[in-house]
Amino acid sequence: MDDVLSGLDPEQREVAETLRGPVCVLAGAGTGKTRAITHRIAHAVRSGVVDARSVLAVTFTTRAAGELRQRLRALGAPGVQARTFHAAALRQLTYFWPRVIGGEAPSVIESKLPVLVEACRQIRKNPDRSELRDIAAEVEWAKVTQVGPEDYVAAAAKHHRTSPVPAEEVARLYEGYERIRRERHLVDFETILELTAAVMTEHQEVAGQIRQQYRYFVVDEYQDVNPLQKLLLDTWLGGRKDVCVVGDPNQTIYSFTGATPRYLTGFAVEHPDAAVIKLVRDYRSTPQVVDLANLVIAKGRSPHRVELIAQRPEGPRPTFADYDDEPAEAAGVARAIRKLIDQGVPSREIAVLFRTNSQSEAYEQALSKAEIPYVLRGAERFFERPEVRQAVVLLRGAARSAAGEPLAAEVHHILAGVGLTPAPPGGGKAREKWESLKALADLAEDLAATGADLQAFVAELERRASEQHAPPIEGVTLASLHAAKGLEWDAVFLVGLTDGMIPIIYAETPEQIEEERRLLYVGVTRAREHLSLSWALSRAPGGRKSRRPSRFLDGLTGRAPASPRAAAPARERRTVAPPVSCRVCARSLTTAPEQKLGRCATCPADYDEALLENLKVWRAATAKEAKLPPYVVFTDVTL
Ligand code: ATP
Ligand code: MG
Repeated sequence: MDDVLSGLDPEQREVAETLRGPVCVLAGAGTGKTRAITHRIAHAVRSGVVDARSVLAVTFTTRAAGELRQRLRALGAPGVQARTFHAAALRQLTYFWPRVIGGEAPSVIESKLPVLVEACRQIRKNPDRSELRDIAAEVEWAKVTQVGPEDYVAAAAKHHRTSPVPAEEVARLYEGYERIRRERHLVDFETILELTAAVMTEHQEVAGQIRQQYRYFVVDEYQDVNPLQKLLLDTWLGGRKDVCVVGDPNQTIYSFTGATPRYLTGFAVEHPDAAVIKLVRDYRSTPQVVDLANLVIAKGRSPHRVELIAQRPEGPRPTFADYDDEPAEAAGVARAIRKLIDQGVPSREIAVLFRTNSQSEAYEQALSKAEIPYVLRGAERFFERPEVRQAVVLLRGAARSAAGEPLAAEVHHILAGVGLTPAPPGGGKAREKWESLKALADLAEDLAATGADLQAFVAELERRASEQHAPPIEGVTLASLHAAKGLEWDAVFLVGLTDGMIPIIYAETPEQIEEERRLLYVGVTRAREHLSLSWALSRAPGGRKSRRPSRFLDGLTGRAPASPRAAAPARERRTVAPPVSCRVCARSLTTAPEQKLGRCATCPADYDEALLENLKVWRAATAKEAKLPPYVVFTDVTL
């Protein structure tokens, strides 16, 4: 049997061996979907059934695409195109532009904000950054769902969009944004997809050439495909059937941007001849983590009940911890991370995951203070970072004169010239630059161990750059739950799990709340072994302890009490009883009489006034009717 198949279980092998026709893999987190499609492609190529160049594998992030190519090379199947939808479309568009459209190809904008600022200026609107982001999110949603500016108001109402910016204003700005974008010959990510599909539809010879090249399609994370991406996929396929999609409907976390799991769940209806394969064995996480993941989903309203069956040996129980305030939580997490590192867990195998990027700062500070290396962002576009480009130019120049110094020392010397210091700087941009340079230095050290010289090192960098395969960056990952999708670590810290943060304060409809629950499920299922969940009762030290743990944790913390091994000093950390909270101040209620009354001894019996005051603030902020459960008090929430 082909050794590519020997590392698969029977269902995964079925995925790998069903090379023709539509295939759909519906399975929970950690069941080996990504592994199955990787081995499927390797098997198809190595057995000679499929030419590597005729495969187009679409993944969700540049990092995932780089990892897929790296895996395929290791499995003996180099040369497969593994890209994001945007990257694949942009490549095709750039290639065909001179022939079918003519003139210079447009420039790509990664952020809509600068153009939106201009559109706002034209209507004399002066938005703050968060308003701008809200408008950009609405424009993105409208574009991926193919709603034009003229239809936006009606569509936004129909789809219950809850932007704080009035729909009429969004529509005007959307119209202005598109006009300015066109005038300046710019394309955003959605336009790249739109144009590629349009060029293929209008120019049959282009469609013919693309379809001639790509004959086998594989799409990972199919639950988060949006209508525009689906349109492009259908255009690529042109009625052909050799497509394999994999996904987990319970991990749909981008529906606010227009993604929808219905393409995944409806695949068998769209393709009645499809092979639908289910995977239920969880190879990633310990039974303790898997139990918790199953519970998170079971307590929701998901129609997709996947019961994951753990394959790994027992591990430590997930821990739940509450802290008095955010700095105490961050310090507690940093201490627990230090302990893990001292026990031998590499820092790159640890992640701190949060709901919003604004939560990262406390962790940056706490980890810096504890002298624990951390990585602020993933390795997205590593080779396009200015400091990396500059370093590669210098290294290439030095390689031409290739001077006899040992590789690691020479690379350190050159990188010191562009800002690599022995110790990392405090945080922010300087820290990010340092991380990139340090990753290059570490790669040089790894290669030096194999006897490589500077020329070989530069050749390796160029190969990696052409494949967008970033070197591993040493350090604890700090990332949002959204950015963590598809990834895994030995130890995961899910932090800031308060009501208002997850579910996020502006999640109103049952659908939006369910998406928040899925985010928690994604977070829980990133952990291989150690999982810690925590929250802080107030924002700043000495602040009012008005927060309560996420409602998604209700009934879960009692089942998995904090393990004594991971417990921090009692002063800052407490084992949590099942979270019954005061309906006024949200403090945990510890005595039976308090729990019976539903409020703590210091809070007034008549809490309506305080509650109404908070709701008023919330209503003013959103200009929406708040439909909030009565116990949520939002005085202290940072968004
Ligand atoms: P997600 O839904 O989070 O994207 P996934 O279903 O894609 O998860 P993978 O990332 O492919 O899961 O696999 C999870 C982990 O389990 C990986 O470390 C992978 O190598 C391992 N794994 C998967 N299948 C097997 C197997 N048959 N034998 C051993 N390990 C496996
Ligand atoms: Mg995966």
